[in-house]
Amino acid sequence: MRGLGFEEVFALLGAVQLSAADLVRLRDWVAGVAHPDECIALIEGAATGRPCPHCGCARKHRCGQASGLQRFRCLGCRRSHNALTGTPLARLRKKECWLTYLQCVLDSRTVRDAARVVGVDRTTSFRWRHRFVPGAMRERPTMLGAIVEADETYRLESQKGARKLTRPARKRGGVAQRRGINREHDCLLVARDRNGETLDFHTGRGQVTAAQLGHCLMPVLPPDVLLISDGAMAYRRFANEVGITHEWVNVHAGERARGAIHVQNVNGWHSRFKTWLVRFRGIASRYLIHYSGWQRILDARRLATPAHLLCAAARRW
Ligand SMILES: [Zn+2]
Repeated sequence: MRGLGFEEVFALLGAVQLSAADLVRLRDWVAGVAHPDECIALIEGAATGRPCPHCGCARKHRCGQASGLQRFRCLGCRRSHNALTGTPLARLRKKECWLTYLQCVLDSRTVRDAARVVGVDRTTSFRWRHRFVPGAMRERPTMLGAIVEADETYRLESQKGARKLTRPARKRGGVAQRRGINREHDCLLVARDRNGETLDFHTGRGQVTAAQLGHCLMPVLPPDVLLISDGAMAYRRFANEVGITHEWVNVHAGERARGAIHVQNVNGWHSRFKTWLVRFRGIASRYLIHYSGWQRILDARRLATPAHLLCAAARRW
């Protein structure tokens, strides 16, 4: 049988009575279709004018193509590079599928689900996730605003995917050996200002310390900041040591807010993060910061299209 031409398919489609569900399917499908050249053009466009990744020299000449990308020879060090050299996306294959894959990232699909949608192997889907997400999440505010809420959330440490466990295995959905927050928990510290700018830090295992707060927050807090937290001693100690203005809410005693003094924005972020995480059915500790970075990108809605995500991930470290 002769294959249908585009015009014929289009005409047929026009003749079909589409249900609401059909329309959703069709829109999703169209949204996911990308011409292979689109991705290449975005990558090349994002790299325009970049100097040599090896020596920083700006002078180069074209020397052929490789993997669909223009290759350049640097006139300074004579080494060759392309638009992705020195980025997390270097040497990844199947560029024609990347934009579809990035839509899956925006849709928070699991590794398995994204593999099915894009038509790649599950291992590829996994590898891509851990290149694209860390690539895009480098898009971070460098400084927070005048009022910053900070709070931590704790997750039971997980060695999911590890070949060798450093402790006896827990049953799925396991519980900690001891009560309270201890070395079995990973700490995710989140600082969020009143404009919604958000920063996340995996501080390691156990209760956050004043030293860790200093290490994470000092570079991103303006000198005249008002820091707001719950009553945890570490915040009071940290604020005292570095001499910043600090207010705290006695959450444990049921206090929610004293006027503008509250941690509801950061708590809201934590609660959205926890709800969002459920679909992944347990995440490994070593990827915790990837997932919080991913949620941060989605929550901020600044990288809202596959093209935005691609350009952020294709930036050099
Ligand atoms: Zn060079």
